[in-house]
Amino acid sequence: MKFATKAIHAGQHPDPTTGAVMTPIYQTSTYWQQSPGEHKGYEYSRGTNPTRKALEECIAALENAKYGLAFSSGMAATDTVLRLLKPGDEVITGNDLYGGSYRIFTKVFEKFGIKFHFVDFTRPETIRSYLNDRTKLIWIETPTNPTMQIVDIEAVGLIAKEAGVLYVVDNTFASPYLQNPIDLGADIVMHSVTKYIAGHSDVVMGALVTNNEELYKQLFFYYNACGGTPGPQDSFLALRGIKTLHLRMKAHCENGRQIAQFLRNHPRIEKVYWPGFEDHPNHEVAKKQMRDFGGMISIALKDASLQDTFKVASSFKVFSLAESLGGVESLINHPATMTHGSIPKEIREKVGVVDNLIRISVGVEDIEDLLKDLEQALKL
Ligand SMILES: *Cc1c(COP(=O)(O)O)cnc(C)c1O
Repeated sequence: MKFATKAIHAGQHPDPTTGAVMTPIYQTSTYWQQSPGEHKGYEYSRGTNPTRKALEECIAALENAKYGLAFSSGMAATDTVLRLLKPGDEVITGNDLYGGSYRIFTKVFEKFGIKFHFVDFTRPETIRSYLNDRTKLIWIETPTNPTMQIVDIEAVGLIAKEAGVLYVVDNTFASPYLQNPIDLGADIVMHSVTKYIAGHSDVVMGALVTNNEELYKQLFFYYNACGGTPGPQDSFLALRGIKTLHLRMKAHCENGRQIAQFLRNHPRIEKVYWPGFEDHPNHEVAKKQMRDFGGMISIALKDASLQDTFKVASSFKVFSLAESLGGVESLINHPATMTHGSIPKEIREKVGVVDNLIRISVGVEDIEDLLKDLEQALKL
């Protein structure tokens, strides 16, 4: 099946008791057993729930993977992957990372004796010098957040495979519509379902997918043992959102393209970060592994102080100043104080998360209204 068909049908079947076409919200914590241990595959909803299962199968199908697990947030999904590690293990990860990932790595798991190396993945060969026999995991994000660098998923996968290291790709920014890391060598794909997959800014959820049965069993163990699993209502909302993922992504990409061009020619902008520009340093890699360039754009304002930047960020009428991304509505974010506020200033500034940087999540509104809003907000 092709992407659009999977987005609408994968994991979903008419309800066996009523024929309901939409997967019902199975609002139940427990399931009747005919005799002890004799049941229909469901025992307790921390472990399995039919609404959640439909969502898990749908996300797995969109990522061309066999197994999927849904979580109560993207961070719960990340937490579950990290539980595969033990004290003494080392992780190589990006130096331009979602703020919450940086926080869980450094503030939660470092204290259990796991060591994290934050490196520049745009030249994959450079990671070889960080590999040793304690390296257990490589964790990347691409496009990176918020400076839209592109990591060559396949090239890093080859190094991970050669070294026998588990390889995880956080595919939140691209969504399965734009790229499928499992096909390029990833062992696990992580998603913040909160963003493009659910797409309507009304749920917080996460997911992991894998093709490896043994890995799936291990992840399922921590998922059930630690319990970061979502309820059926949220699973239903995500499942509803996912049905239009392909339609939304097309619109995000088209609006993103026009906005990136507009900003690039604007006198108040010093730099536009968007992988679709031919002179973007990783444009060729983006073209190779992505189907389009997405709706995430960052801009550095020219000669702007923190106050000037706040003024611009606060003067939009159609765009909302808010954290998060990937919803149908356009959002403006100030990474240095909002999404990346948990990263120390000297560390974030090294990778370009400076005070005059603004990140835009381009929504699917009418492009004319979005351009007009940008124009008025950027007026001197
Ligand atoms: C939002 C986000 C996360 C965390 O997901 P939550 O659903 O907010 O817990 C992880 N990675 C990236 C790239 C994100 O944008």
